[in-house]
Amino acid sequence: MKKVKCPNCGKETNWENNPYRPFCSEKCKLADLSKWLNEEYRVEEELFVKEDNPGS
Ligand SMILES: [Zn+2]
Repeated sequence: MKKVKCPNCGKETNWENNPYRPFCSEKCKLADLSKWLNEEYRVEEELFVKEDNPGS
């Protein structure tokens, strides 16, 4: 059976019959997703701050 390492916690998990793949569980899937969203928000915030400062 094919196994993959969960990108969030590194635990080996089944690829087949796994609704959360490549993650090992719903918890890890959501954790990774929220990590992603936080990154997005952080980048947008930085861009907004730069645009807000009248540099030139
Ligand atoms: Zn995991």
